[in-house]
Amino acid sequence: MRVLITGAAGFLGSHLADRFLADGHTVVGLDNFITGHPDNIAHLIGSDRFTFVRHNISQYTYVAGDLDGVLHFASPASPIDYLRLPIQTLKVGSLGTHNALGLALAKRARFMLASTSEVYGDPLVHPQPETYWGNVNPVGPRGVYDEAKRFAEAMTMAYHRFHDVDTRIVRIFNTYGPRMRPRDGRVVSNFIVQALNGEPVTIYGDGSQTRSFCYVDDEVEGIYQLFMRGDANPTNIGNPVELTVRQLADLVIELTGTKSKVVTEPLPEDDPRVRQPDIARARTMLGWEPEVAVRSGVARTIAYFRGLVGTSRMASA
Ligand code: NAD
Ligand code: UDP
Repeated sequence: MRVLITGAAGFLGSHLADRFLADGHTVVGLDNFITGHPDNIAHLIGSDRFTFVRHNISQYTYVAGDLDGVLHFASPASPIDYLRLPIQTLKVGSLGTHNALGLALAKRARFMLASTSEVYGDPLVHPQPETYWGNVNPVGPRGVYDEAKRFAEAMTMAYHRFHDVDTRIVRIFNTYGPRMRPRDGRVVSNFIVQALNGEPVTIYGDGSQTRSFCYVDDEVEGIYQLFMRGDANPTNIGNPVELTVRQLADLVIELTGTKSKVVTEPLPEDDPRVRQPDIARARTMLGWEPEVAVRSGVARTIAYFRGLVGTSRMASA
């Protein structure tokens, strides 16, 4: 296969490129580096099965040659990123998804949308199955991300139903691992970077809110299997093991051996209270489930960030 991955210089996009290349496929990576980093794809430059296009997918996009797949992963994904980039986030979810779908239609390629557990908002059903329609505040600060992704899902289904494009929608739950941007503000990277730098570990609110963290290798394998063997219905891919934010802070402090202390900061507006994927659909359809325990995944992620200590990436936003 020859596939286009938008957001290829990001955390998930770069791992997904690796996964396709490992199976002998050819990858065209596209990114404008708005939240990604060239280091994430540096190891691929020079490979004869990887090419890179620096481009904003929210603008008209032309890619030469045949494509068998278009995987639309471009979008700011960390709350601090989409709060400082609200218009770009809305545009990449709407215009960017439209352009990526148009490209898939023109090339007769399979399309995959990177959607998110945020489509469930602050959920009133727990854990969240794909049949739950969500509880999203469209005009709150997180609305720029949540509603862009909900629009993107609707647009994907319209291309599927009206243009008969072969589509996939993956609802990704909190994923962590190597190649997260050190200062991207997400909880796993924040806690590890703070712990390694000897800075206070910042718990927002009382730390009783929960998330379910999936190690990147598990997440990418689930996404790859869904792309290859799944169907058009939205599919949750994540790890159902649920932790409070305080439990995560304790784990990071233990595994890094830091002397950092925990401090509390105000809970951001509309911060979901709970989140846990129901992955019955992925288990049945794909025979997939996560394998990496959070303790081992966090240890591997700490090892990655240790390698960046002392570099400018650890020091600055
Ligand atoms: P990331 O910020 O590391 O990667 C996103 C990439 O997209 C970056 O390299 C960025 O430069 C690029 N990008 C953004 N806007 C672009 C544009 N207009 N044109 C071209 N490139 C653009 O984030 P990530 O964690 O790798 O997330 C990837 C995708 O997965 C996103 O769509 C995100 O919404 C989704 N997702 C991620 C998670 C998670 O836990 N990591 C959870 C749910 C959904
Ligand atoms: N969080 C925190 N301290 C931080 C960063 C995040 O307590 O330094 C909390 C945040 O309020 C949320 C959870 O951790 O409840 C997950 O936040 P993240 O930004 O990783 O992603 P979200 O799941 O909210 O999109």
